[in-house]
Amino acid sequence: MKQFIKYTLGPLFLALSFSVLLSLVAGWVWGVVAFSLVMTGVAARDSWQLLTLNRLLQRHQMSAGHQLGGTWGQVFGQLYRLEKHAEQTQQKLRESLERFQHAGAALPSGVVVIDPAERIRWCNPSAERHLGIHLHEDRGQSLTYLIRHPEFGAYLKAPPSDRPLILRKVRGGDLSLSIQVVPYSPEERMLVSHDITQVERDEQVRQDFVANVSHELRTPLTVVGGFIETMLEGEPLDAATQHRVLITMQTQTERMRRLVEELLTLSRLESQQSAPDEAPVPVSALMQQLVQMGRQLSHGQHELEVTGVCEDSIIGSESELLSAFGNLVTNAVRYTPPGGRIMLSWKRERNEGVFSVLDSGIGIHPEHIPRLTERFYRVDRARSRETGGTGLGLAIVKQIAMHHDSRLEIFSESGKGSTFSFRVPAHRIVAPN
Ligand code: ADP
Repeated sequence: MKQFIKYTLGPLFLALSFSVLLSLVAGWVWGVVAFSLVMTGVAARDSWQLLTLNRLLQRHQMSAGHQLGGTWGQVFGQLYRLEKHAEQTQQKLRESLERFQHAGAALPSGVVVIDPAERIRWCNPSAERHLGIHLHEDRGQSLTYLIRHPEFGAYLKAPPSDRPLILRKVRGGDLSLSIQVVPYSPEERMLVSHDITQVERDEQVRQDFVANVSHELRTPLTVVGGFIETMLEGEPLDAATQHRVLITMQTQTERMRRLVEELLTLSRLESQQSAPDEAPVPVSALMQQLVQMGRQLSHGQHELEVTGVCEDSIIGSESELLSAFGNLVTNAVRYTPPGGRIMLSWKRERNEGVFSVLDSGIGIHPEHIPRLTERFYRVDRARSRETGGTGLGLAIVKQIAMHHDSRLEIFSESGKGSTFSFRVPAHRIVAPN
């Protein structure tokens, strides 16, 4: 009201008073003329202010209107404050949107927002990777047109369900996806995808492992069970046959015992992050025990040599190192025909310590080498069994190498022999001064 009196009624009253005074002095015509002139000036000023407001509004320059005084100055000020507030709100929204987009981009799960006609509205980079879509090019495209799996189309059309759809061999590769559709508004649905390739692989490995263990145990159990049945129900056996049968039963039970022992060792190694009871283990002491072990197994059928015995020590678990190196020596004896040569060596290479077992045995075809440390992987199953193998030896070596920050290196040539090297990093070696 104060503003109205100050800026509108005030000038009007002044103009009126002046015009009345002029009419009294110079006649009513002059009074009317003066009043009309003042009112025309007021109207001209207001329309100029309106034009300025329009221009500033178009240019988003409301701050410039501050200099104008009076009611118009106030109108400009209010509009300027409203505009500022709207700008701040917009900035906050922009920041929230950016945060949301960054979070969406960092999500390992794929997210696609689709409209009721299954057209893409937005997706994150994981979804682009999973489904082979590109947001810039495919926005507005139908998702079922881009992903041509019949079960995918049916899943999108079906009523929402808690059960995800599992898509295998997506885009012709070996990618497996778990897909779920989450409706969150009548206008949009969200499709969430998870890469389950590794989970499926792990499950396959687990299933293979159970099948392998069952198979490995079933064979000796069938042999022993068969003999027991024959001895219980058949004719009594003569002493020589009985002896032969008992020897076979002993071999088979020994095989089962070894298998169970190695399975327990592997399971213990896999459940531990590192080797327990680490201490400096002298290489010379290890070598001595390994040569003894090799000679016992070889029964003098191989030429066994040792080179590079020194005063180095390896920081680690003595029992684990002996088990890993022992497995390599045992394999060398088992896969080298009588008369062959086996050499154990320790050398330093670029600060690393390298324990190697070289043999002149049957060797390995290159295609098998990358898979040798898989549980139960064997080049020749029958030969491995014949020599008392379980197929777990190198898997155990690999686990022990991991406990010691080390790696297993295999060089081999079919028919010529192999070298298995256990490379220990510098920080695990203690050398004499
Ligand atoms: P296994 O108990 O069958 O020997 P390992 O895990 O110790 O199991 O070895 C896996 C496979 O690697 C063996 O079955 C064999 O085919 C191959 N292998 C290991 N060491 C040697 C070697 N020194 N010479 C040739 N083949 C080897």
